[in-house]
Amino acid sequence: MKKAYKFRIYPTKAQEEQIQKTFNCCRFIYNYYLSKRKEVYETAGETFSYFDCANDMTKLKQDKQWLREADSQALVYTIRYLDVAYKNFFHRVKKGETPGYPKYKSKYNAHNSYTTMQKSIRLSDKHINLPKLGLVKCVISNNVEGRIVSVTVCQNPSGKYFVSILTEIEASIPQNTLNKDNAIGLDYSSPHFYVDSNGNAANMPHYYHDAELRLKREQRKLSKMTFGSNNYQKQKTKVARIYERVQNSRNDWQNKERRKLAERYDIVCVEDINYQSLSQTLNIAKATYDNAFGTFRKMLSYKLEQRGKKLIVIDKWFPSSKMCRHCGYINHKLELKDRQWVCPQCNQVILRDENAAINIKLEGLTMLA
Ligand SMILES: [Zn+2]
Repeated sequence: MKKAYKFRIYPTKAQEEQIQKTFNCCRFIYNYYLSKRKEVYETAGETFSYFDCANDMTKLKQDKQWLREADSQALVYTIRYLDVAYKNFFHRVKKGETPGYPKYKSKYNAHNSYTTMQKSIRLSDKHINLPKLGLVKCVISNNVEGRIVSVTVCQNPSGKYFVSILTEIEASIPQNTLNKDNAIGLDYSSPHFYVDSNGNAANMPHYYHDAELRLKREQRKLSKMTFGSNNYQKQKTKVARIYERVQNSRNDWQNKERRKLAERYDIVCVEDINYQSLSQTLNIAKATYDNAFGTFRKMLSYKLEQRGKKLIVIDKWFPSSKMCRHCGYINHKLELKDRQWVCPQCNQVILRDENAAINIKLEGLTMLA
């Protein structure tokens, strides 16, 4: 069983420089092998595999000595990560979707991170011992259980540093007999986050909407400042902090929601996310919001598994909204704006979201059987 922890770290000036160095080297390696894989594929029609990258990197490090200053495990992790990005890309192509090709990493990307996997990583009371950095001051707010598998060092847009620690524990997952009467279906629904098969809406508070005015004001100020000046940097951090607060409140809310669901139900049924329709929406705020449900599902699945329970994912083509749950009639004329309709076959009034959630639950239980 895997567990994840996230703590804030306070590196010294020298440690910060070293962290930045590793960020830069990882970005270089990622972009270098992305273009290499592309080039080999385009000229020879062959795949430049993970092992080819690993072999090549040994030579590259002799040419470019500065790469040796970075945490070497982080570089290995980078080419592995690139390999996964490629595999996911081809996997989505196979499924008939139109995925984006893996992108180059920009120096101006606000999120920087690298992942390291050395066996020597240790936690003490107030420190974490990381390769190339030594003891870094760390606020350890939870008891870390298990063997450390990997540590990701990251810097968020407002400049704070964190470590995400992934551990593995040998715990026996409780053997639950899943009670089919204790199942629920969730239909993703944009204003509420989700509506469940009992007709209840989750009603996530509108954190972003609430912060929007302030955000706009601070962004306007930023746009009037000289790019790159001290004040500009300060203001940029201020804007990033507002985003961060929105994100944190949302994460807290979602975390509580997941725990509630995982404690109360044995089986939770959800729909697969349609990434194709996501990539087609031009509204960025909506797209991130929709993506949040994907993350929510993933973490919920993990929470359920820990308790020996189950998340069932329904095929994205299943007509959960269009099908009348009473008689199975399929309403091909249903549009996104239609919140309720009357089934022409059985004359029942159908509430769109609740109907979809019930269909998702029923389909999930059929799949389970
Ligand atoms: Zn009907």
